[in-house]
Formats: sequence, C-alpha cells, structure tokens
Amino acid sequence: MEVAVLGGGDSAAEEALFLTRFASKVYLVHRRDELRASKIMADRAISHEKIEMVWDTVPVEVLGVPEGSVSGLKVKNVKTNEEKVLSVKGIFVAIGHIPNTGPFAPPLEVDGGGYFKPQAGSQVLTNIPGVYVAGDCSDHVYRQAITAAGMGCQAAIEAERWLAEQEV
Ligand SMILES: Cc1cc2nc3c(=O)[nH]c(=O)nc-3n(C[C@H](O)[C@H](O)[C@H](O)COP(=O)(O)OP(=O)(O)OC[C@H]3O[C@@H](n4cnc5c(N)ncnc54)[C@H](O)[C@@H]3O)c2cc1C
Repeated sequence: MEVAVLGGGDSAAEEALFLTRFASKVYLVHRRDELRASKIMADRAISHEKIEMVWDTVPVEVLGVPEGSVSGLKVKNVKTNEEKVLSVKGIFVAIGHIPNTGPFAPPLEVDGGGYFKPQAGSQVLTNIPGVYVAGDCSDHVYRQAITAAGMGCQAAIEAERWLAEQEV
C-alpha cells in the first residue's frame, strides 16, 4: 500500500526509508522546499525510488476517519494554495517529540520543552529526593536506546544509594 510520512527531519527521513521495505510508495510530505534532516539522510530519502517528495506542503485532513480506516490524505501546497488528495492507506507523523511527562509534572520540574529538568548537572536526578528519571523523557538531544538504557543504569545506582542512606 501507499503511505505518507509527515515531517522533514532525521526522524521523518528515517521513517520514510524504513517504510519503503513494506510500502509500494512513500510520500514524504514537508512544509518547506528542503529537508531539515542531515545531508546523508536527506540524500538517501530523496534519491530512493519508492519515496516521492511532496515539498511545500502541509496536511489538511485525514480522509476515512469516520469509517475507521485511512483512505487518503488531503494536503495543501503552502506556496500555491493548491489542494490535492494523496491516496494513502497509512500516515506516519514525524514532526517532533512531546515527552509524556505531563502526569508527573508537577510535582517534578520540567523545562520549556516538557523534558524533566536536569538537577545538579545530572539528567537522572529530579527536584524530589528519591525520584529518578531516565530515557527520552529527560533527554532532548540524543534520544537513543543505548543512552536511555545508560540513564536507566545511572538512575538505578542513584536509587540504590538513596535507599541505603534511608536505612542509616
Ligand atoms: C522510528 C524510531 C526509530 C528509532 N531508531 C533507533 C535506533 O536505531 N537506535 C536507537 O538507539 N534508538 C532508536 N530510537 C530511539 C529509541 O527507541 C528510544 O530512544 C528509546 O526507546 C527510549 O527509551 P525510553 O525508555 O526512554 O522510552 P520508551 O521506549 O518510549 O518507553 C517509555 C515507556 O513508558 C510508558 N509510559 C508512557 N507514559 C506512561 C505513564 N504515564 N505511566 C506508565 N507508563 C508510561 C510507555 O508505554 C513506554 O513503554 C528510535 C525511535 C524511533 C521512534
């Protein structure tokens, strides 16, 4: 089936390239006329035979929602205002991250982007002693599995130390 990816960064390029393994065609819909992704990722995406770039374009409406199944994506060219429908059966949104920290903040402090706020120079310490965080929710730079796992280890060590201190 044909699918669309929305976005223009590394995540969007990576997602589009990954989806070429399963989709007959991938539309990469981006609001500007060049990708924000790194050059290597952008080149790979743009030159891929299954990926069609849809430049200067924003999504307007997902079609098929009332029927419970995507039947198309209405898009608009921001330079010409021309609208058209991409007959896709799947839509993948890759336009940034909103860390799911809401249920914990407050009382935990978050920064302007919603990421847990580093305390005392550490990404795993929070403003509440005995509460530790790890992973993408506390990292707006790397957001990788290995960095998340590393922070998990740091948080576990901190938690163990804190528990040991409580026993004294
Ligand atoms: C398309 C894509 C490709 C990627 N490719 C790579 C790659 O090649 N290499 C790499 O290293 N990383 C890659 N990553 C990044 C990697 O997946 C993340 O960095 C990693 O999963 C972060 O781990 P985490 O534990 O912080 O968060 P997550 O893996 O997102 O885990 C968070 C967990 O918390 C749960 N949760 C959320 N809210 C609540 C709540 N209120 N209460 C209880 N539980 C909750 C969620 O259900 C989830 O299970 C990729 C990510 C994406 C999206």
